[in-house]
Amino acid sequence: MNHLNRCKQIKESQRTYRHNFICDWCWASKSVELLNYADFATNAFWRTTICSKSEPSASPWREVFGFSRDRQCWDCMHLVHLGFLRDITASCLADMFQTGDLADYVNLAPGASAALVFWRVGALAEQWAKQNQLDLGAVRLTEERLNYTQTTYPCLDSLVKAARGRVLFEYVCKICLDVERNLPADRPASDIYHSQLRASMCWCLSACLSIWSKGKKPKLSQQEKEKSVWLGRSHLVCYAALAAGALAQHQLLYKVRPKCHYFEHALDECALWGNNPLSQSSFLDEDNMKSLRNLAVKCHPRTVKVTWARRYILKKVLLWHKLKAE
Ligand SMILES: [Zn+2]
Repeated sequence: MNHLNRCKQIKESQRTYRHNFICDWCWASKSVELLNYADFATNAFWRTTICSKSEPSASPWREVFGFSRDRQCWDCMHLVHLGFLRDITASCLADMFQTGDLADYVNLAPGASAALVFWRVGALAEQWAKQNQLDLGAVRLTEERLNYTQTTYPCLDSLVKAARGRVLFEYVCKICLDVERNLPADRPASDIYHSQLRASMCWCLSACLSIWSKGKKPKLSQQEKEKSVWLGRSHLVCYAALAAGALAQHQLLYKVRPKCHYFEHALDECALWGNNPLSQSSFLDEDNMKSLRNLAVKCHPRTVKVTWARRYILKKVLLWHKLKAE
């Protein structure tokens, strides 16, 4: 699994998200314009520099016997759910607040404060999640939680966990679609285009993640693969366009992180092998860590190491017998 922080430590690579050349799969760069990692066009130059197994400049992992490209999987949970999904959620809310559309959507006066508008959005999101039997918990959106400071890029804080962050994004996606549908026709053409672009960006990612979530595992069907890859790539192109527009207007919105670039590689891998990226994500590992912790809590502190291991092995043996019986 490609947990980026651990990968950086294990590989000791000079091509990570902290370096100028951000990717050990290709020569995408933060500062070389020709190799701009935020270029998601099909003819982006970095695509011509993707390493093959035989290249001497490739990752040190390639020296390990048995290593091949298909053994390295991108972790969708850390890339998307705990990665740029937080930027998208917070940026969309901040963007719609600045244009006044968000206050209008939650039935508040145009001059309502950011704190009040975000609080109302959080309350409506909780209500919507309950109606749709989704687990969002008490989200309580605030300016701090969205990192809405005018001097930094908005980003949802890490207290909102992966699964709940996905539910909140779904609600934000709904707001973007509703705002786009109900935008008065007398608004400037640039506003309408911007709103359409934002709604498309959110909807494409939401639809892509839904296909992976409901689709076959570990390999997607041909139709699921083609649809989700197209949606994922469309999402990135729309997101890059929104980021470029915000940059041109000197707005701190829609940050393009290296994780967006890695997501493009994950889509390429999905298109090539048909693996369902969600079946390769760390969601199951995190669930396993939770069950291991629950097991350890039930052991006596003095004998925890031995008792824990014994119980864990017993649990695995019983599970194995159950699977064989089925
Ligand atoms: Zn790359």
